[in-house]
Amino acid sequence: MTSSLDPMNSKPITRCQVCGGEHLQSVLFIGHVPPVNAMLPIGTKPDAELRFPLELLRCLDCTLVQIGYDVDQRILFPHTYPYLSGTTRILRDNFRNLAESCKARMLVSPGDLVVDIGANDGTLLAPFQELGCNVLGVEPSQAGDVAVSRRIPIVKDYFSASSAGSIAAERGRPRLITAANVFAHITDIHAIVRAIRSLMPPHGVFISESHYLLSLIETLQYDAVYHEHLRYYSVGSLARLFAMHGLAIFHVERIPTHGGSIRVFAAAEGSRAIDPSVTDALEAERRFGLDDERALSGFRGRVLQSKLDLMGIIADIKRRGDRIFGVGAPSRASTLVTYVGLDDGALDCVVEVEGSHKLNKYMPGTRIPVLAEEKLYREQPEYALLLSWHIAGELAENLRRRGYGGRFIAPLPKPTIL
Ligand SMILES: [Zn+2]
Repeated sequence: MTSSLDPMNSKPITRCQVCGGEHLQSVLFIGHVPPVNAMLPIGTKPDAELRFPLELLRCLDCTLVQIGYDVDQRILFPHTYPYLSGTTRILRDNFRNLAESCKARMLVSPGDLVVDIGANDGTLLAPFQELGCNVLGVEPSQAGDVAVSRRIPIVKDYFSASSAGSIAAERGRPRLITAANVFAHITDIHAIVRAIRSLMPPHGVFISESHYLLSLIETLQYDAVYHEHLRYYSVGSLARLFAMHGLAIFHVERIPTHGGSIRVFAAAEGSRAIDPSVTDALEAERRFGLDDERALSGFRGRVLQSKLDLMGIIADIKRRGDRIFGVGAPSRASTLVTYVGLDDGALDCVVEVEGSHKLNKYMPGTRIPVLAEEKLYREQPEYALLLSWHIAGELAENLRRRGYGGRFIAPLPKPTIL
């Protein structure tokens, strides 16, 4: 236990992870935040706990937005990593849509090999398998066992030059390589893009899905900033990264996952025509101010104001003696709870769906218990704080249908009682 929690390999990030520049400007300092997966079982006596600085930085040389601290991957992604993509309907639908988009663009045909990096429980690969593709996932965590039980073959390893070499030797070069929501998580991004490039055949395609910086700023998603997310991409910053490895973006789609993401299609430079979606996206980013300092200049002030407004709403409710339950404990909830400073006096508990690995534990760094959702319907607290506010509409509707009669609070983008 102690060795896996050794923080010694964690360290400040002093250079831009894409261009190597040292001119990093502070956008927002969120505070010292516990690792998202550091959830202790209810009843554990309080003891010393790890916290790491969480700061959003912008590279003045190439515009990349990244965080300023690299937490040891063994702390962030323990082998019991409790996240399974298949448990989220929006993600299942998204990956079905991805497979359909690839088929419509004639990027894959039956019999082609598709390799998914960070395959998790196989949710991305399943619809490609249904299209008749040969699929292979690369996944080091226990989530890979779930994929195997669904007959999706898994290389139980981290993706690297060495695992890419073994895949090429044993399975051949894949027509399509995908990486959804892992592309921001890997420390040495150049090593990964190099390994991807080495695995791609001349007409191969690489597709990444990442949380979109423009959406993050637009809807004030400071809670999407946590230590697992080292970088916050725009189409422009991804294009610069890929160009350093001879890859060009030829198609871009905005998708709704995680409160706004981008799906970016890349191939060897000159191998495919670049469609207007790319130039449109770059132009929209320029207008939004992502190429200079305009887009992020007021961000810190707006984030602070949203925290003060949320505290005001909670203060009024607590003054009346009413109860508030949090709903959902996604990673982003941990940043919000820490930044706003919510404790077990403000939130009686956070409720989670049956089967979640987070049940019967405390929210990171607090004594707020995570309990089964059934408690919400049984006890009918006056207020439910939607911590997965980016799907507030769908979530509130589901909770109503299952019998919750109280009122909802959306903490962002503008703290509101619905
Ligand atoms: Zn840079």
